[in-house]
Amino acid sequence: MTRLSVVVPCFNEEDVIERFDTRMRHVLDALPVGYEICYVDDGSSDGTLGKLREIAARHPQHTQYASFSRNFGKEAAMLAGLRKSTGDAVVIMDADLQHPPELLARMIDLYHQGHDQVMARRTREGDKKVRTALSRVYYRAVNRWVDVELTDGVGDFRLLSRPAVDALLSLPEYNRFSKGLFSWIGFDTVTFDYQNAAREGGETKWKFSSLLNYGMDGLISFNNRPLRIALWLGMMLTGLAALYAVWVTVAAITNGVTAPGYVTLVAIIVGLGGVQMVMLGLIGEYIGRIYYETKRRPHFLVKETHRSFGRAAAERAAAERIRIVTAERER
Ligand code: UDP
Ligand code: MG
Repeated sequence: MTRLSVVVPCFNEEDVIERFDTRMRHVLDALPVGYEICYVDDGSSDGTLGKLREIAARHPQHTQYASFSRNFGKEAAMLAGLRKSTGDAVVIMDADLQHPPELLARMIDLYHQGHDQVMARRTREGDKKVRTALSRVYYRAVNRWVDVELTDGVGDFRLLSRPAVDALLSLPEYNRFSKGLFSWIGFDTVTFDYQNAAREGGETKWKFSSLLNYGMDGLISFNNRPLRIALWLGMMLTGLAALYAVWVTVAAITNGVTAPGYVTLVAIIVGLGGVQMVMLGLIGEYIGRIYYETKRRPHFLVKETHRSFGRAAAERAAAERIRIVTAERER
């Protein structure tokens, strides 16, 4: 490998971004490879962009950045970073130093051993017990459903070879569930464990509700098995209803009509209503996805990059010179 790209999505990370940059460069300078860091500012509302400008001005050779017109989400930010990256291999890292830069040497080692995807799996030490248990149950359940393998503790922190990056970039979908996409592209993959670190500053962008939504995405992003299950459940219920009808008829013939079963009736109506709502919601989820895909909107909009900022600054300076010259002439 001659050149490594580090992709860093940042959303409101002004507290840590400088610290991240310093530590990252310290590690990268010691490695026997060339490098670039591609920061993507995901529409931060704090001073992140200003910090990125400063960093890019300080290290123009090794820094790229792009800034979105608004917050498009981490998936979009990672995609933008991957598109910008030019290295022979790319590492995706969070800006909050939860992904220790010191692990890069190990990752590059594994890459040189011929692996295309080097995944870092964090141990769940120090996490809340409930959350760990919930994740474990979720991953066990989800892996039964989806066709791709999702691993607990493996996030977006990984090294990808250029062919793997190109493969990812060739997937055009709008709804990007990276965890699944990484697994879907395949390639020679290896995993190693690392100790989970606490966030160095700022705060996490995950709320419990966004975790739930993410979980739902994981379930239905990768196949139509839930739809198939809806079909089976529908058929099963129809069968049960038919059996029940036969049973009621036989009972009526043998014992005469007694017309009991008010409770049963209400339970069945309400129960079936619920099942139908769930199934409609499920179908709606798929249709919603199709809706977004068919719009073919871009994944993100960029308002500024290190290049355009350089140009914009030069243009501003030129305009200022013209203003001064005209003002002097008029005097
Ligand atoms: N991030 C982003 N856009 C978002 C949310 C998060 O680019 O809308 C970035 C964030 O700046 C960080 C990384 O994604 O670099 C992981 O976010 P966070 O630390 O909040 O997630 P956690 O580590 O808690 O899973
Ligand atoms: Mg984090």
